[in-house]
Amino acid sequence: MNRYGFLFILLFFVSVNPYSRAQNSVFPKVDNLFMERGEVYFKFSVTSPDEINSLTHIISIDKVNGNEVFAYANKKGFIQFRKSNHPYKILPAPGLLIPGSELTRFSPFLKSGSKTVWNFYPTYEQFLDYMVGFAAGHPDICNLDTIGTSVQGRLLLAVKISDNVHQQEAEPRVLYTAAIHGDETGGYVLMLHLIDYLLLSYGSDQRITDLINSTEIFINPLANPDGTYFGGNNSVFGATRYNANFIDLNRNYPDPKLGLHPDNEAWQPETMAFMTYGQNNHFTLSANFHGGSEVFNYPWDTWEKLTPDDSWWQFVGRQWADTAQKYGSMGYFTDVNNGITNGHAWYEINGGRQDYMNYWHHCREATVEISNIKLLPTNQLDSFWLYNYTSFLNYIEQSHFGVNGLVTDSITGQPVFSRVFINNHDEDSSDVFSYLPSGFFARPVFEGTYDITFSSPSYFSKTFNNVVINNGQPTTLNVQMKPYSHGKTEEAISKVMIYPNPGSGIFKLMIPFGKKGNCIIKIMNGLGKEVYSENLILNSDNNLYNLNLNGLSSGLYFFNIISQKISLTDKLIICDD
Ligand SMILES: [Zn+2]
Repeated sequence: MNRYGFLFILLFFVSVNPYSRAQNSVFPKVDNLFMERGEVYFKFSVTSPDEINSLTHIISIDKVNGNEVFAYANKKGFIQFRKSNHPYKILPAPGLLIPGSELTRFSPFLKSGSKTVWNFYPTYEQFLDYMVGFAAGHPDICNLDTIGTSVQGRLLLAVKISDNVHQQEAEPRVLYTAAIHGDETGGYVLMLHLIDYLLLSYGSDQRITDLINSTEIFINPLANPDGTYFGGNNSVFGATRYNANFIDLNRNYPDPKLGLHPDNEAWQPETMAFMTYGQNNHFTLSANFHGGSEVFNYPWDTWEKLTPDDSWWQFVGRQWADTAQKYGSMGYFTDVNNGITNGHAWYEINGGRQDYMNYWHHCREATVEISNIKLLPTNQLDSFWLYNYTSFLNYIEQSHFGVNGLVTDSITGQPVFSRVFINNHDEDSSDVFSYLPSGFFARPVFEGTYDITFSSPSYFSKTFNNVVINNGQPTTLNVQMKPYSHGKTEEAISKVMIYPNPGSGIFKLMIPFGKKGNCIIKIMNGLGKEVYSENLILNSDNNLYNLNLNGLSSGLYFFNIISQKISLTDKLIICDD
């Protein structure tokens, strides 16, 4: 029993009455809820976890306590859910539980650079002012990014905090994001508080100064502004879980198991904006803050299988939970498994951002549920900051541990884009890359001894054996990659490339070795008939040609490259442009 138990039970009985539904009650009341808010919150019971796994595609399951399931649905999902014949109870909307008067109790609004007491929910306009003010007040270490806009045109904003903030440095990149479920608002204010705290502590607090100098920290406090300000820009009272199209944004991402559209909905503007942001920023580590429970949830949500980094996840999850318990009130952060859980072991979800970031962006993202009450009352916001801020800092620091370093060309010293693969360990995108412009990679991993292979187009692969990693310490591995032009191997032959593939019109053909000599490229259609042929003259170590294939219709082809030394055949797909 946690400290909210009594309050929750009281509210539950008081508020459930107007909407409670036995099997024979009237549906129009629920219909009214959909008209007013586009979503309903309800609970039901299951007899086995398998039932949850079949329903998770239809409704958004929010929390599972034993065999009791709490969920949201839009109208379409709810109609489908009703066909499953589970008796259910409509619950009061979490966004309406706290009186609006309590939420709009503002602290005096202070301009940039001055200390704010974060015990209130800003209006949407104040939120914008704060975000602009953070960057304006600390231009050397804080930059404001627009990730995109919401369905209703509100801004998705993030600040980047780092020294040399306008450069991409050789540093790990950490992202914090909150309130993707618009009515889970605690994280929203805690993130504003964190930004303020980091900026004001820079130069005076050694730990924070070191963290900012050595890390690129990105913070997006409000991931679903239309949901959070569903009741209007002046208050978070009436906040909804869903976005303005009544879609659960944390079920709207590509899913490693179910493909690009696991919820059968189009990607929302918020989803597409975050996908681009993830693509452009190559985050090492991230966390997505929620409310409704108190637990650190780590990948996978969609798969039963564990990630190869399960030991590491348990280690950092335990650190988060232990620290939150230490600074929290009695019983804080002890849900599920004393505060940590594998996602799928709790309940399966598909289309979540966590799995998307891990699988598609080789990032390590966790889902952190920070408060049992979703819309945290203002008088608790400061306490929850005290419970959590040490965990916020610890987790950012984890981005430095494991193995990291710079990958460069052994001849020119230039940074190199490279895959960093832990042999007999990595799978399902747990490997990382060294990205340009810096050539830096960061790979948090649990302590142990590993063999790590670096590979890159036009370079010989390089393996480091018996690399020793200790928890809580960085192991640095600076790697010089030797380009192909200084030797020829079987591996080089396999690096002949036509790109883009699939593509259309003009293609590039790269033969990254060769010296002088003649070479023929032939292209055959799917029936083996030759449709293109050209003689090429190899004259350098890195031959690059344009192939004009405008005359070929879309479909599957094979290309064959023949010279004195090689004969190579591979697939080429031509698509409509
Ligand atoms: Zn949530």
